[in-house]
Amino acid sequence: MFLSVKGLKKAFGDQEVLKDINLEIERGNILTIIGPSGSGKTTLLRCLNALERPDKGTYSFDDGLELHFSDHIKKNDMTRLRLKSGMVFQSYNLFPHKTALENVIEGPLIVQKRNKDAVMTLARDLLEKVGLSDKMDLYPHQLSGGQQQRVGIARALAIQPELMLFDEPTSALDPELVGDVLKVIKDLANEGWTMAIVTHELRFAEQVSDRVLFMDNGYIVEQGSPKDVLRNPSEERTKQFIQRIM
Ligand code: ADP
Repeated sequence: MFLSVKGLKKAFGDQEVLKDINLEIERGNILTIIGPSGSGKTTLLRCLNALERPDKGTYSFDDGLELHFSDHIKKNDMTRLRLKSGMVFQSYNLFPHKTALENVIEGPLIVQKRNKDAVMTLARDLLEKVGLSDKMDLYPHQLSGGQQQRVGIARALAIQPELMLFDEPTSALDPELVGDVLKVIKDLANEGWTMAIVTHELRFAEQVSDRVLFMDNGYIVEQGSPKDVLRNPSEERTKQFIQRIM
């Protein structure tokens, strides 16, 4: 098991947003997270990426890294956690005054302090992989939403994470641009990347997922194979949600 999460809890003030999250992610597997707005999906991804610090719970990784969030966590362990995953945001979050290429090299060059020549080669390869070899020197405002999101994907890949996290990667896009982004994610799936994806695209979820997890109100209501959760859910709340959007 790449990652095992036990008893994860997160509150903002007195609002408990994640109440008792238990999940596992296997290497090379794709977990999709579905559920109504406000159920805690984004917060869960942000906790996995250490953009938010969980209040309680344990993460155990297969390389021996263990974090117990009730205790003090060493800075070095937090850094290791952060570098395990690359995050792709709903609203792209690109640096507006940097070109596509500069956005992609920022993490490995400035944060990871890797060799500049190697990073440039990697960044060009990644931009080519997401279909943007002719757009490397353009700024975000010169790119369509779908192109910006593909830069976002290349940027997340550039830190060479073990886990890719996608937070509703297509929900801000015009319908005709969704397909290109989903195709890039499908290609990554075929290459064996480990991924956790928050999405409302249930048909896409059905095609790519190994496991689907349905969240409501800070809890995981049900999880299982896409066939079970999306086609034959056992919980009433899951049924209602799926009927509404599928
Ligand atoms: P989802 O992704 O399922 O829509 P979120 O994780 O974004 O759900 O949000 C779950 C709840 O947590 C919402 O009620 C939201 O308002 C609240 N929330 C999320 N982030 C913060 C924050 N930084 N501060 C306060 N409340 C937050």
